[in-house]
Amino acid sequence: MNHSKNVFYRLFEEEHNRFKMIVFLLLAFCILAVSLTFFILSIGRPNIGITLSMDNQGWTVERVGPNSLSSQAGIQKGDRPVEINGVPAGTFLARYSRSGLVFGAMFRDLTVVDSNGQLKSVALEGSTLSWQGVSEQMARLFVSVVFWIIGFYVFLKRPRNVASSLLCLFGLFVGLILSSNMVWATGVSIAVYFEVFATSISPWLLLHFFLILPEERTRLRNNPLVYAIYLPATITLVLFPIIGLVDGQPVLWFQNVRYLEAGVGLLVASGVAVFNYFGATSTRTRQQMKIVLVSCLAALIPFSVLNLFPVAIWRQSILLPEFSILLVSFIPIGMGYAIITQKLMDIDIFIRRSVIYGLITLMMVAIMSASILLAVSLRESLEIPQQILMALVVGAAATALFGPVRNGIEVMVDKLLYKDRYDYRRIIQSLSTSLSPVNDLNGMSRLIVGTTAHTLNLAGCCLFIKAQSGSFEVGTAQGTFADAGKQKPLLTLISLRNRTIEFPNSASNVCSGLAFLIPLIAGEKEVGILCLSPKVTRQHFSSDDKYLLQGIASVATMALHSAMLVRDVSIRDTFVSVASHELRTPLTSIVGYADLLLRRDPSGVTRKRWLKNIFDSSQRASVMVDDLLNVSRIQSGKANIRLESVGLSDVLEEALSLAKESTSKHVFIVDIEPDLPDVLVDREKLGQVVGNLLSNAVKYSPNGGHITLSAHNEPSERHIIVSVADEGIGIGPEDKDLLFTTFHRIQRPETQGIRGSGLGLYIAKEWTEAMGGEIWLKSKLNKGSTFFVEIPTQDSSGTG
Ligand code: ADP
Repeated sequence: MNHSKNVFYRLFEEEHNRFKMIVFLLLAFCILAVSLTFFILSIGRPNIGITLSMDNQGWTVERVGPNSLSSQAGIQKGDRPVEINGVPAGTFLARYSRSGLVFGAMFRDLTVVDSNGQLKSVALEGSTLSWQGVSEQMARLFVSVVFWIIGFYVFLKRPRNVASSLLCLFGLFVGLILSSNMVWATGVSIAVYFEVFATSISPWLLLHFFLILPEERTRLRNNPLVYAIYLPATITLVLFPIIGLVDGQPVLWFQNVRYLEAGVGLLVASGVAVFNYFGATSTRTRQQMKIVLVSCLAALIPFSVLNLFPVAIWRQSILLPEFSILLVSFIPIGMGYAIITQKLMDIDIFIRRSVIYGLITLMMVAIMSASILLAVSLRESLEIPQQILMALVVGAAATALFGPVRNGIEVMVDKLLYKDRYDYRRIIQSLSTSLSPVNDLNGMSRLIVGTTAHTLNLAGCCLFIKAQSGSFEVGTAQGTFADAGKQKPLLTLISLRNRTIEFPNSASNVCSGLAFLIPLIAGEKEVGILCLSPKVTRQHFSSDDKYLLQGIASVATMALHSAMLVRDVSIRDTFVSVASHELRTPLTSIVGYADLLLRRDPSGVTRKRWLKNIFDSSQRASVMVDDLLNVSRIQSGKANIRLESVGLSDVLEEALSLAKESTSKHVFIVDIEPDLPDVLVDREKLGQVVGNLLSNAVKYSPNGGHITLSAHNEPSERHIIVSVADEGIGIGPEDKDLLFTTFHRIQRPETQGIRGSGLGLYIAKEWTEAMGGEIWLKSKLNKGSTFFVEIPTQDSSGTG
């Protein structure tokens, strides 16, 4: 209810569109109402179903409707009318000699004579419609309903799309043709106008639809000239009441002109549809057209094979006409799908599978029938056991052939229907062109992953980049790999991988969501690794795909390698400059006070103050040196983590007492859950992590306030979360990501006087992650920050 309200709201929301929409819906609903009325009037009612035409020997039966009373009575083409509606045929028909054509809609009863002189009679009164007649009518109604539902659904889904309005109208016209034709046969003469109107316009509607559907023709969509295609139909419609209808009966020659015109319209429309397919410049158009064409073929091929040709050849259809009409429903389904869908791939899988499995079935049936024929022909000369043996051999052969047959057909279908939609040289070239102006690793990885995933239509793609520390970091992840939960096992797999699962070998046997692992190696140095999932369509990777991947890999390697060199050099530069600057400040003050002490001999109090200054500065310098050493260890991959089972509260208390000593302005609140399980960590490193967070909490709340240290157990998750909260200056959302990188310090008026190297959080993050944990924060500017550290408990190691 709510949904439909939204849809209608959407329909009328744009002021300038409102009028058009109302007119369109009014027209649509009127056509719908008329068609429904016609259906209701005619369903179940018998009709004489005959057309008489005049040749030079007088009136003769021209056509007999398939499920009509006339055909039930055995009346055939060529029979001659004797009596109509109780008067001699000649008298009755005299009025219609000008039109030369009379439709049986106006006959209540009729007697004809065949070439053998035998009389046949039909009368409306007292007769009922045969079940075939009813089922044909129901089939017409069904097809109309399919057209209506799809037409309205597509229209409501894409109300602003011209193609969807055209499809909706086309569907309504099909319903009108089917219903008016039926009701006319039962004697409702006004229906002829509706039928002529609908049959004249609908081929051109179809042409219009195909002309404007492709996205390449957006401009044509709004060009009023396109409406010129309705000119022939308009002329016909104007002329029809004047010269096309005599005495309420359509004139033969004019009817032929109309049919010819409609035929031309349909032919041009099909031509445009085929042209759209072959001339498509965008993948989307090609796919759209493929869907439309396949659905038309699905309707027309069985229709011709089972109905049209058999009728033409043997005068009898294989499939009852009432069923063959149902096949037409494939057409609106395909057309509607082509408009609505953005992701055309799903139907691609469907089509491909249907084609493949259809062909496989045919091949297998052919093989089996050939063997059975052989068996039958040899029956005389073989004993029963030999025959059974032969059956077994045939069965085994069919089984053995199944695999190769399927592969062969798959390759063939891929070649025919799914020719590579890209030129791999062009893609590689354009990737390398677009990579050249980019110089940051993130931008590059986005381009590399985007191009690969898009071109190959992958369900997921992820690029891991070698960080300074030697570990892999996610550069960009898309689709199925976007989820961090999927990246972790992938990282583990990468660190444990061997040659056998690297590209060009497939990695699918070690991990089902993975197709290829492509190491990006520049010389001796691995700069990253590209992980690809299978394609969305589950198609195999073709040889062109593999060439493309090789090309992408080498272009990506070169680009990433050079960006990394630049990054390393600039990091080293920053490192040296920050390190020397940060060490220099305490060293200067140490040298200064030591010099003072040597040259003067101050009193006890001053002496103590100077010595305290020297002590504090040496401590700062030593912390800085420790930090630098830690960073260098992390980045050279030489950091040594020794995990042991540790009581968490001891570590926390220790860090806390150090922090308390450093300040008198702050109030510390401790909220450590009693009976915490032991954690599996490197004691010293965890101490550094918590110590750093506490010292930051002190440093960055210069006006004092509460600092809360908490630790809580999450037994179900098998970890403990330690947090440090302060009421200080806080951190803006824009800084959160960079906070944990080397040398990143936030520059704000509030941080001006606060000393630091920008290494503490980087080290804290590296240590936490090396121990299997995670670190993150929540913060509000000027309100305070809370840093969280998740540490695995000891019992998680066994299962993890
Ligand atoms: P520093 O040596 O500069 O403190 P860190 O790596 O420990 O280096 O922190 C990086 C930056 O993060 C700091 O410069 C500071 O701007 C910000 N920061 C860290 N902790 C807090 C906090 N508790 N409140 C506000 N800002 C913080």
